[in-house]
Amino acid sequence: MTTKQSIYGLPLESLRQLLIEQGCSKFSGDQVYNWIYKCGVFDPLLWSNVSKKAKQYLLDNFNLELPVITWQARSTDGTRKFLVGFEDKQTVETVAIPAKDRLTLCISSQVGCAIGCTFCHTGTMGLKRHLQAGEIVGQYLAVQKWLKEKSDSDKRISNIVYMGQGEPLHNYEPVKAATQVFLEAKGLGIGQRKITLSTSGLVPQIEKLWDFPPVNIAISLHAAHNDIRTELMPINKVYDLERLFEAIAKVPLKAHRRITYEYLLIANINDGERDLQGLYKLLDREHSKVNLIPFNEYPDSEFKQPSQQKVQWFQDQLIANGYVCTTRTSRGDDILAACGQLKSEMDKENLWD
Ligand code: SAH
Ligand code: SF4
Repeated sequence: MTTKQSIYGLPLESLRQLLIEQGCSKFSGDQVYNWIYKCGVFDPLLWSNVSKKAKQYLLDNFNLELPVITWQARSTDGTRKFLVGFEDKQTVETVAIPAKDRLTLCISSQVGCAIGCTFCHTGTMGLKRHLQAGEIVGQYLAVQKWLKEKSDSDKRISNIVYMGQGEPLHNYEPVKAATQVFLEAKGLGIGQRKITLSTSGLVPQIEKLWDFPPVNIAISLHAAHNDIRTELMPINKVYDLERLFEAIAKVPLKAHRRITYEYLLIANINDGERDLQGLYKLLDREHSKVNLIPFNEYPDSEFKQPSQQKVQWFQDQLIANGYVCTTRTSRGDDILAACGQLKSEMDKENLWD
């Protein structure tokens, strides 16, 4: 097994510098970027305008293999789930969600997760390992290639959400490098507003977001009172709502941008009047957007999804009180769409074994 770093984790500026240090032309980095990210050509032998020296250096020092798609399934609503495997045979899930005007890729930042939210299937796995930047970008490249070669749609992935497995801010530097690669205009060129980083609320890393590319930020709030939030998210014992909102107040927001608050709705836990009152106190109407997520039940999950009427009522109350509020429609139900479920189910069918 090679232990070389994946080339797909290198932001353009780093690649340029490395190649210049090797005595290659100052355009070499841009040429390589163009082949990989604009043309989707991953075999250096085909990079016709790149010097032999640059190619040899990259081949000797970097891993150019894409991650492998070990399993995939399409839901009746068009959502496609992929199990993406890496060199050490660890796998993560990546989900492509089509809509009329976009194709969103939900990517993973870690194998498993250390945060241990009680409602989350990934949380029950614990953290297996962090993903490297190249493995994060690799999910995009491998899925885009698969879609181009094997599906009837030639749609390009237009949006990225860090909402697969893992806590992205627990793997800060690789997630930052991967985000720089996604944003690079001479590469994939995905716009800042088309990337969303979702976090469970790691306060020290939220305080470092001034140093992160200015993408959309989503906070997994899930409760407006400390007692309930601690029950759902053990991280609230360390960074409670007060600490969390102090950190959020420091997040640099570009003009007119809002922070998204993800709010899981769980029957009889956080879907009542007291919860609404708590949200009104916590959330500033001008800079917040609430995204309600009806809890996705999975086998053995102790929590239940509220009725549709209850979800609608909760949303109506927030809107009537002046909030921008949407409800995430459940996608890919028939292929187990909730966070972390697919992987544990599908390990049994891992095509490598
Ligand atoms: N770790 C990050 C990002 C990955 S989880 C975070 O927690 O924000 C992405 C979102 O899926 C989070 O808002 C999470 O709370 C939610 N989620 C986890 N399990 C779920 C379930 N069973 N049903 C619905 N949403 C779930
Ligand atoms: Fe980790 Fe997010 Fe799941 Fe919590 S919800 S266990 S932070 S992946």
